[in-house]
Amino acid sequence: MSAGRLRVEWSPGSDTLTGICHCGARRTAQDPAEIWAWLLSHPDHPAPAALEGGVSLG
Ligand SMILES: [Zn+2]
Repeated sequence: MSAGRLRVEWSPGSDTLTGICHCGARRTAQDPAEIWAWLLSHPDHPAPAALEGGVSLG
């Protein structure tokens, strides 16, 4: 698997998970499986054009 740099963050005090793709796209959901499925579907989610240039995650 070539997942690249993917992150899933959990917000303490809530049931919300935030998935962050290596392309800078983000998605929030309560189901970890949904987050990972979304991350691994990388070409199918749009990269945020607004974040182009000078963005470093992690
Ligand atoms: Zn992506």
